Amino acid sequence: MAFKKKFTPKKKFCRFCANKNLPVDYKRPDILKDFVTDRGKIIARRITGTCAKCQRKLTLEIKRARQMAMLYYTATHSADLLKKM
Ligand SMILES: [Zn+2]
Repeated sequence: MAFKKKFTPKKKFCRFCANKNLPVDYKRPDILKDFVTDRGKIIARRITGTCAKCQRKLTLEIKRARQMAMLYYTATHSADLLKKM
């Protein structure tokens, strides 16, 4: 079969530049979650289409969100997370 199923390359544009009302904020995990994999990894810019400027901010906010989230984890949980980081 010649038809390869790859990551669907939809129209790429920076979501944060396109929508000024969309905040890049660690307090908005509902937005950030679109830019991380289900395992919590940040999705590459070339896939999401985010521009360099916003991606830099996004990375920062995601890292901040991670640190915040870790505060809410139980002791056993955070110890496990720290090992992976
Ligand atoms: Zn942008």
